[in-house]
Amino acid sequence: MTRTRTDETGRRLNFAVGLVVFGALCVLAGAVFAGIQSGTFQHPPIFRIIGTLVMIVVADRPALYVRVRSDRHRWASTDVGFLIGMMLLPWELMLLAVAVAILCAMLLARLSPAKAAFNTGKDVLEVACAVAVGSALGLTSPFTPSFQLLPAIIASALAMAVADELMALPVIAFASQTSVWQRFRTGWDIRWGTTAVRYILSIITMFLLAQDTHLVVAVPLVLIGLHFTSANRLRERQEREAWHQLAQSTEKFNEVDLDTVLSEAVKRGAALFSAGEVDVEINLPTQPSRLVRGGLDGVRYDGPPEGAPPARGEVIRAALESHDGSADVGELRLRFRRGVALSEREQYTLRSFAAALCTAVRNACVFAETQRLAADHEYAATHDPLTGLANRRQLFASGERLLADRATVGLTGLLLIDLNHFKEINDTLGHTAGDKVLAEVALRLAEAAHEGDLVCRLGGDEFAVLFAGLAAPALAVPRARAVLGALDQPIEIDGVRLGVEASAGAALAAPQSGMEELLRRADVAMYQAKREGQVVAVYAPARDTADTTRLSLTADLSRAVAERQFTVSFQPVVDLGTAEVISAEALARWHHPAQGDLNPELFIDAVERSGLLGAFSQAVLDQSLEAAATWCAAGFRLPVAVNVSPRSVLDPDFPEIVAQRLARSGVPAELLIIELTESLALSQLEVVDEVLQALRGLGVRLALDDFGTGYSSLATLARVPVYELKIDRTFVSSMTDSTEAAVLRSTIDLGRGLDLLVVAEGVENEEQRRQLWELGCPAGQGHLFGRPMPLRRLLATLRRGYDGRPGVLAPPLHDTGAVIRLPARRAAPHRRDELG
Ligand code: C2E
Ligand code: CA
Ligand code: CA
Repeated sequence: MTRTRTDETGRRLNFAVGLVVFGALCVLAGAVFAGIQSGTFQHPPIFRIIGTLVMIVVADRPALYVRVRSDRHRWASTDVGFLIGMMLLPWELMLLAVAVAILCAMLLARLSPAKAAFNTGKDVLEVACAVAVGSALGLTSPFTPSFQLLPAIIASALAMAVADELMALPVIAFASQTSVWQRFRTGWDIRWGTTAVRYILSIITMFLLAQDTHLVVAVPLVLIGLHFTSANRLRERQEREAWHQLAQSTEKFNEVDLDTVLSEAVKRGAALFSAGEVDVEINLPTQPSRLVRGGLDGVRYDGPPEGAPPARGEVIRAALESHDGSADVGELRLRFRRGVALSEREQYTLRSFAAALCTAVRNACVFAETQRLAADHEYAATHDPLTGLANRRQLFASGERLLADRATVGLTGLLLIDLNHFKEINDTLGHTAGDKVLAEVALRLAEAAHEGDLVCRLGGDEFAVLFAGLAAPALAVPRARAVLGALDQPIEIDGVRLGVEASAGAALAAPQSGMEELLRRADVAMYQAKREGQVVAVYAPARDTADTTRLSLTADLSRAVAERQFTVSFQPVVDLGTAEVISAEALARWHHPAQGDLNPELFIDAVERSGLLGAFSQAVLDQSLEAAATWCAAGFRLPVAVNVSPRSVLDPDFPEIVAQRLARSGVPAELLIIELTESLALSQLEVVDEVLQALRGLGVRLALDDFGTGYSSLATLARVPVYELKIDRTFVSSMTDSTEAAVLRSTIDLGRGLDLLVVAEGVENEEQRRQLWELGCPAGQGHLFGRPMPLRRLLATLRRGYDGRPGVLAPPLHDTGAVIRLPARRAAPHRRDELG
């Protein structure tokens, strides 16, 4: 107990022990001195001395040991010997006898010198206290017990007991580094109870001895009996307490949270086994190893076992396994400062504790796994796996919640975003690239959205942003633009820079209507945006009815193909100078049984997505070739221009289909112009090159439609063997703007420089016609000359002519003498091949 300790408690312990031993030595010196003075030592009562010595040594033998941490503490009934000795011997002799007897007993018990010294000193001081209190009350030893002396006897016995507690408890507490109060509380009732019984018996014995001193020989027998009863009770008590503690500790393991289980385990383990430190190491195949270390005060380390600070002390290990050993989740380690041997009961408790902990750890892991799976399921059910954005379901759930909640501040709006030409990206660059584009779009939208707004992917290339807390309706558009601005910068995928365009519709939640209606309105607005070429349109109730019908179009498509609801109108293309028709463009129409004639912008998208594109394209091609044949037969050798979806150009079979249709119609190939939308499809892809070369090989002419609206105009021109360039009507309508005019002029110059036929679209008035003519544009089409019309009507129009001249649609521009010559290649369309 007096080992070197560096800490504060160690110093306090050494001090207390030193003090007790020093005090005892002083008392003993005093006793020797007093004994010599009074002559007590001259005729020592040998028989009584021996009796007392034997009594004390014997009373000490059946000691009880109680382990606190790594220290064992002795509890013995020597005080019985002390009390009776006080009656038999003069106090000077009595103190010396106590010192000698206890020293002998300690040696017999093989206690360390420090412990022996402390115990001897403590007992000497205890007896000195009893003697002092007794003599103060008129009790001079030796004495003959009598009823008058009883209060004094009881008082000195009490003094002895109190002195014992005062000296023993602090030292045990310091030694075990627990609190004095804690030590006092543990088993105080049994301690004081047995002490009281011992003292009562001691006093009865005194009275018996007063009758016959020789009965002193019987005292040890009484003591041994006494010891066993109290020892048994103490042991029983310890057992009960241990089970109670075990039950209490393991009850804490019912927690489902692993962290709680482990922190409880170290705390409870430290308390239950009186260990200085407890390690719980968890080794599960599914998780990295984890070490939790701590003590009564809680967790001190929690992390990988390798990272734990080095630990000192003796260790007792227990596998964290189930009772039948079928499961093993790790190891429990109890750490003590010094070697400790656990009693059989403690070992059993340890195994039970470890088994309970094993079960608790497994339960907690299973629970955590279930939680994780539930969260995963929840996540998967409400999120889009590709982009990680919320999905339609989540949008509806959040939206409905927002709409239903009276506490919602501000307005709720929905922005529906649809990427333009996404299908093309998918088809040309592959699905992996398409997925990357979607992921990047998702990321940008999420970044651009307000905090609190919900960004979702509804499927395909459709996204939505749920706006929460809009302060005023007017704020919807700026907020929408801010989000869409995120798509302004091109997206780079595998080294290809792609411009991503989107059309979006915004709508505000109407009172009393739910998400379904909000989504429908946003969809209507989005469609308006698409049709009008705007980036974002806001839902306008006035324009609603016309658009709602579109939603059902997709469903009607297959019937439309089967029932030939698709027809073609033809719009004449004229020489801007003479107004002579030089070709006609075929424009698809859908005679919808319920909705009347529909323009391609309303259905082309749906056709492309539906898988009916092939059938549709063939219907258009057949009708167009039939028209060309009809006009030819009537003497108008006019080429017909057919619009071709970019997806057709990706179809290696397309040229073969064209060849078949041409052959079937008997129309020469040079009377067919194929209008390609300048788009991604025309870039960098072998299949496109092959298809276009094959078409050119047939003798078909290629025109580049909507020129100037895309982003790779020049690059495309350099690669594709084009015959004709069509200037988008947006340039024509904004021709009065000087910058637009400059673009127009350079485009016309470019076309002429490359020896291409340049056709301006959307010529609606004479002013535009004249300006285009002056800019050097040779040809045009537009309402000024003729709207798209059925084949027979165009034929009639051609026949009628203008001013008696068939095939002419308008008066010529003033000095008609200077007709701009169309490129010579019109007569020799194959020349371009040598160049391409
Ligand atoms: P586009 O090839 O640029 O066709 C010209 C569009 O401008 C036509 O619209 C035509 O009606 C319209 N237009 C002609 N002159 C004027 C004018 O003076 N002013 C105005 N404001 N517009 C004029 P439409 O028929 O609605 O066709 C729209 C687009 O649909 C076409 O644009 C073309 O890209 C596509 N398309 C038409 N038919 C087919 C087809 O059979 N197959 C494919 N894949 N696409 C087609
Ligand atoms: Ca066209
Ligand atoms: Ca066009």
